[in-house]
Order: sequence, then C-alpha cells, then structure tokens
Amino acid sequence: MDEGGRVRRAVVTGGAGFVGSHLCDRLREEGAEVVCVDNLLTGSLDNIDGRRDDPGFTLDRRDVSDAFDVPGPVDLVLHLASPASPHDYARHPLETLRAGAHGTQNALELAHRKGARFLLASTSEVYGDPLVHPQVESYWGNVNPVGPRSQYDEAKRYAEALTTAYRSTKGVDTVIVRLFNTYGPRMRPKDGRAVPTFITQALAGEPLTVAGDGAQTRSICYVDDTVSGILAAAVSGQQGPINLGNPVELSVLDLARHVRDLCRSESPIVFVERPGDDPSLRRPDIGLARSVLGWQPVVDFDKGLALTIDWFSRLPVSGR
Ligand code: NAD
Repeated sequence: MDEGGRVRRAVVTGGAGFVGSHLCDRLREEGAEVVCVDNLLTGSLDNIDGRRDDPGFTLDRRDVSDAFDVPGPVDLVLHLASPASPHDYARHPLETLRAGAHGTQNALELAHRKGARFLLASTSEVYGDPLVHPQVESYWGNVNPVGPRSQYDEAKRYAEALTTAYRSTKGVDTVIVRLFNTYGPRMRPKDGRAVPTFITQALAGEPLTVAGDGAQTRSICYVDDTVSGILAAAVSGQQGPINLGNPVELSVLDLARHVRDLCRSESPIVFVERPGDDPSLRRPDIGLARSVLGWQPVVDFDKGLALTIDWFSRLPVSGR
C-alpha cells in the first residue's frame, strides 16, 4: 500500500464469485490493480465480464488449493475462494475443506513471500447454531464437527486458526473478517440461499418455499456494504476477527413475505423441510466494526432488495 494507505496491487482469490467480483470492481474503481485467482468452481465469467477489456484486471484461472504464485509486487491478498452456499458446499465437501485448508495456506504463503497484508473472508457459520445472541466476536460457537455443514464451518474455523498461526509464527500482517449473510446482484438464482430462492420463485409466480416454520432468523447485508467493510478492514491495522453484517434481524417467513410484496407477486408461501443444522438465530454484533473501522451498513433493506430484484428480473427467464 502507498503512504496514503491506498492499495496498489491486490490479489483476490474467489474474485469471480458473488462477493469477490464486487470487491474486484470496487478495488478497480479505487485505482488498485487486481489479480483475480479463481477456478470458476462456483463463480462465473459473467460476474467479471465488465472487466474483460480492463488492463488493470487479470484473471488467473487456477485452483488455490494447489500451490500458486503471482508474479510481481502484491500489497494485499484477499482470500475469498471457497464454495459458500449450502448447496455448493454440500455438492463439493472435499473441495470446500481443501479451499479452507490448503487454499488458505497457499494464499498466506503468497502474502508472506510478497510482504503483503492478508485478509481472510471467514463466516458467521463459525458460530454454528449459536447459544449467544447476537453473535459477538468473543463467542466461540456451537458447531457440529460431523454435521451436514461441517465441511464449511470447520474449514473456516481451521482457516482462522491457520491465519492466526501465520501471524504469530511468521509475522504475516493478517486480518480475519466474519461475513454474515450478504445479498445482491450476481447471486446465482439456484444457489439455495433464501434471497435468490424467494426472488426467483416470486418473479416466476411459483410458491415461495420457506424452510421449517420460518421462525428462524437471518440478518442480511447488501453486498456494497459488505465490500466497504472488507476494504475498511483490509486497510486498517486490525487483526480481527471482526464481524461484518447488518444487525437488522428478521425471520425467514417475514423475509419471504417482504420479497413477495416487493416483487408484487401473489405466490403462495409453502413450508418445506428444514435442512439439518440450519441455524435458528443469526444476528451480528457489529460494535467492534463500528468502533475500530468506523463501518456500518448504510444501504437500507428495501433499497437493497429492490436493486437485487431488479437485477434478477433482467436475467433471461432461462437463466433464473
Ligand atoms: P461464491 O461461490 O460466489 O464465490 C466463491 C468463489 O471462489 C467462486 O468464484 C469460486 O469459483 C471460487 N473458488 C472456490 N474454490 C476455489 C478454489 N479452490 N480455487 C480458486 N477459486 C475457488 O461465494 P460468495 O458468496 O461470493 O463467497 C465468497 C467468500 O465469502 C467465501 O469465502 C465465503 O465463505 C465468504 N462468505 C460469504 C457470505 C455470503 O453471504 N455471500 C457469508 C459469509 C462468508
């Protein structure tokens, strides 16, 4: 980073994914050169299509779970590569564990070689089905190590431990952020997460499928806010972990009703079986992010959802 704390050249692993592609866009808008390292396991070239003719952006298509290098100077490594939606990590359990373990180590090694700052995109899933609410960083979580989400939860917990060890033993300048549910344009319609599922169902006039009785809660953060938080953490001197999310909490049933209303849809709501180990409560305590980063979400829920619905409604019907 230059004397003003501006990023000159960043590596974004998972940069062709949902959050990663928005992060690449923001870094480019702020003048940083970006190398996106992604094997397109769950990401897509469409997400980075806008950067096709951008000389400051490079896609290095590779699996970060295999050792890799990036030629030239790097001052920031942002490690996001990992399947992230429940459907994706259920389909790719071993890849998810490898991305959290070997992928994180390879990204840390890159940061170590380059003398770069390293940011780990961890997750609220490290809290499991929480016994403390809202979730504060000092809470250690309630995670089933052999359950249907364990490949993701434990991979991220290991990634946090590895990042901590690289900081203490090798002096890598690291920060861990724990992202809570993020939504926005470029989510995949069928990735199994609540927002794209409800939007595509409402737009198609199909029943909205709410898991269980819908009383479980979620707190969803618009992607622009998440990206601002990631970058604020990246250029801070903090080591984390720092929660990044929107503390507005609502039940999954209320979310479904809200999406249906905003889509002006008359779809019925139906109740389906709740997946195993689905957390009952999710709400970040963002006091730390507020105080040390001066960050908090600014995009209001209705606006964020309207932007997301608008984006989904422009997708060809076959792509929804
Ligand atoms: P995503 O699936 O859209 O993006 C992940 C990207 O990583 C994809 O482009 C995928 O192709 C790439 N990838 C996966 N394994 C890889 C590998 N071995 N080598 C190279 N590339 C690989 O998911 P997302 O929602 O954008 O999530 C990005 C990161 O943020 C993940 O680490 C996830 O755990 C974290 N996160 C996201 C959320 C959320 O709500 N979206 C919440 C918490 C944490």
